[in-house]
Amino acid sequence: MWAGCTWMQPAHVWGANMHELGIVFHMIDTLEEIGRENELTAISRVTLDLGEVSGVLPDYLQDCWRWAADRTELLRSATLDVQAIEAVTVCNSCGRTYGTIEYGKTCPHCGSPDTVLLRGLEIEIREIEAM
Ligand SMILES: [Zn+2]
Repeated sequence: MWAGCTWMQPAHVWGANMHELGIVFHMIDTLEEIGRENELTAISRVTLDLGEVSGVLPDYLQDCWRWAADRTELLRSATLDVQAIEAVTVCNSCGRTYGTIEYGKTCPHCGSPDTVLLRGLEIEIREIEAM
């Protein structure tokens, strides 16, 4: 399965999409479970929340999705709609929030390193459109 998918990919993504492929397989498992529970025969669209710092590359995710989804009954030709979720960090010293991508782990308001990521790691199915 894995080797097959890698083989199917264009040369430029060779070896770069193992992470994304694992996520796609996990998503398909989840969707097939939802499909069984709700007696769905086909899903036409899946909306996924994808955090900016989740480490997932949307392009690779789409490639893997297309390859894997078309090999299932339930998800054949289903569209994957990826919604980017901005990464936000909160500072424990001053209580303010800021963009994680821009400033990293140091608070730009007070300079404190005592900060916690609020969101930006999500890889979550938000919506499913069944036929
Ligand atoms: Zn601060």
